[in-house]
Amino acid sequence: MEELLRLENLSKFYTGNGSVVVGLDKIDLTFHRGEFVAITGESGSGKSTLSHVLGGILPYESGELYFGGKPTSHYDSVDWEHHRRDRISFISQSYGILPGATVLTNVVSALRITGMEKKAALAAAEDILRQVSLWELRSRRAAKLSSGQKQRLSIARALAKPSPILIADEPTGNLDPENSRMVLELLAQAARERLVLLVTHEFPEAEPYVSRHVVLQDGRVITDAQVRAPQEPKPLEKRETASQKGMAAYVARLQQKSRPIWTALMVLFFALTAFCVFAFMGTFIIGLDDTSTRVYDDSAFYNGSKNRIVVSTSDGSPMTEEDYRKLANIAHVTSLDPNGYVSDLRYAYREGKDFTYNYLNLRWDNFGNPVGEGHDRDVDGDGKYTTVSISSNAPFLKTVPVLPEGEVFLTGGRLPENIYEVVAVAQPDQIGRFATVHITDRKWGSGQVITLVVEIVGVTERGSGLYFHNDLGRVCQQSARFNIKQNLYLFLPNAELDNETFLSNASMLEYFWVSGLYQEEANGPIAVDFRNINVEDPEAEDGWLHLQLPYAPEASETMEKAMQANKQSCTYVMEVSPENFDLLTWKADSEQVNLTISDYAFTDRVLKDIQKEGYMATSVYRLGSTKQLADKVKERSQTLKICAMALVAVMLLQIILLRAMYASQFGDYKILSNIGLTCRLAVDSVWRQLFTQALIGQLVGAIAIWICAQCRIERILNILIYLPIGYVVLLLALHIAVSMVATAWVVKNMRSQIYPLAGLETDLDMDKEAEV
Ligand code: ADP
Ligand code: MG
Repeated sequence: MEELLRLENLSKFYTGNGSVVVGLDKIDLTFHRGEFVAITGESGSGKSTLSHVLGGILPYESGELYFGGKPTSHYDSVDWEHHRRDRISFISQSYGILPGATVLTNVVSALRITGMEKKAALAAAEDILRQVSLWELRSRRAAKLSSGQKQRLSIARALAKPSPILIADEPTGNLDPENSRMVLELLAQAARERLVLLVTHEFPEAEPYVSRHVVLQDGRVITDAQVRAPQEPKPLEKRETASQKGMAAYVARLQQKSRPIWTALMVLFFALTAFCVFAFMGTFIIGLDDTSTRVYDDSAFYNGSKNRIVVSTSDGSPMTEEDYRKLANIAHVTSLDPNGYVSDLRYAYREGKDFTYNYLNLRWDNFGNPVGEGHDRDVDGDGKYTTVSISSNAPFLKTVPVLPEGEVFLTGGRLPENIYEVVAVAQPDQIGRFATVHITDRKWGSGQVITLVVEIVGVTERGSGLYFHNDLGRVCQQSARFNIKQNLYLFLPNAELDNETFLSNASMLEYFWVSGLYQEEANGPIAVDFRNINVEDPEAEDGWLHLQLPYAPEASETMEKAMQANKQSCTYVMEVSPENFDLLTWKADSEQVNLTISDYAFTDRVLKDIQKEGYMATSVYRLGSTKQLADKVKERSQTLKICAMALVAVMLLQIILLRAMYASQFGDYKILSNIGLTCRLAVDSVWRQLFTQALIGQLVGAIAIWICAQCRIERILNILIYLPIGYVVLLLALHIAVSMVATAWVVKNMRSQIYPLAGLETDLDMDKEAEV
């Protein structure tokens, strides 16, 4: 008969707590296929030890175990895994079934682990479950079976697996006589083609079935008797070579399916930690930008908008249309104002109201405060005063912008064609209305003031307030650029100017700038003072040029009135032809423009992109934010500390909880390992679980973040804007990395606890193919 197992002088010791317990003491035994061996003995005599050693579940210390005549002492952990998977079916007293999986899955999974195809495994499982009368209960969870049913399931699983050796450790221990008989009959049936080892303390019950009786005492064989001659075994059905492809994924799915609540909790846990890592890390990174702790000093740039970026050419040459296009199309730039200097001027306006009265009666005292009845007259008769003032809340001046490609500016009407026309951020029904606009820098009446009545000719949805004609921008730009602290001179197109006198030679404008403009009497000629300024040295006193310009009677009535009304005030108006206007404002095509970006968060990225194009760029807000606010500095360092600590805490918690949660699967993995799941596959399946759960968790976390963003939760919105995509990727990677640390820890424990034989590797490298 075919020899399957032989023990030669085999001993097994249990060491621990400094003492050594003998489990098996110099055992010599040989087992053949077709034998049905009952192993009996007192409790503690070594029956379980023997069955576990033979099953490749426990290591042995000395002597030799032969399988099919070949020694096993050189086996490494993988060899033992294959031994368990391919040669042994083990039925333990404690059933060893997966409690969360269904009856059917318990059998099918065992077969799949041995490498059987899904279809074949299902067919074999059905066959065997019908034999043990469990087919009706196939979709019940194993945990819900009675003990007899559990044991029958355990036996069914062992029988379904076509291994040459079947070891049953007290399978009838918990069963009533009827169930016991059924189990013994099934084992006897198995012995017709296999070696069956039955550990029992009820020998009389087993006697009618077995062929041999081995009695153990204190780890030694004291009796080895033949009960009846074994039958010649039928050939064992040949099995395909085990294919383990996709097995790790299968086991991962098996585990997740049989513990649905646990799996859902894991996903939730990953979602929660991903969210926390995102929130804390995001807040931390936002906190790293210390501009939030500063106060803006507006002495250099009055308009310190966080979204304002000032760009100039590196060589001081004027910007061209092509420059505008290039800059406007940089990512996150929403618009470009060609008149870089005008953005520090303010204007006040009242839309759709007749300010003519006010306009004509406007007065300021020496300190620039508005005085006079014009200010306090209730012009619209609604009981409220329509006081015009430029406060620090007044908008900053802007002209029609250059937009990024493909963006539409107007939502109705048309662009302004002269300085009296504007585009308003308003509904189309506002087109055709008039507004009185007062433009000044810094303080109302401090020197430079333009007052003009404008008509809304177009509307837009972009930004707020009014967009002026570029010519107005150029005029203001000139004034602002040279920082002329006296009156602002407004040159209006469409009137005659004595060209011969002073504009015939355009080049003279390289050296002169208008410094004074006044009218001696109503409708009289306008006097203009040109001051010779050297552009390099604007302060140089180099004489004056006085010009008399004829008054233009065809000027609009409003302007005429304005001239009269403002004889002594700071506002002067002069009209020139379009050509001369260009000449007088030639310097207004500046080397400096203003960009507006969609959020301050993009400042660094935009600055980098602009500099890459070869321009000089600066964030006005940053430039002016020099003074630190002590309170805010303290608050910020507090936030940074809390975030860093919370981040570390979340990660530690993640590692500890993850480890605990995965370790709770060790029971199942122990069972799977006993029925032949190799260590590598077990480890792979744990990693797979981690990655699927972590990824789905991150997805859920991302959805939660998205929902928070939809609910306009400011902190989350801020983080989303401030965190460049690279950081988000980094965050997710960090989250996964922390999970991986926890999983690596789990895997390490798994190797040592579930696969203890992994510690028994020898350096002998035998031909393992021949063994199987
Ligand atoms: P049986 O199954 O016949 O009751 P066992 O094989 O379980 O006997 O035990 C044989 C001997 O080995 C006993 O003395 C028992 O105390 C000892 N033993 C079994 N398992 C361990 C263990 N894990 N650690 C230490 N001693 C053990
Ligand atoms: Mg026992």
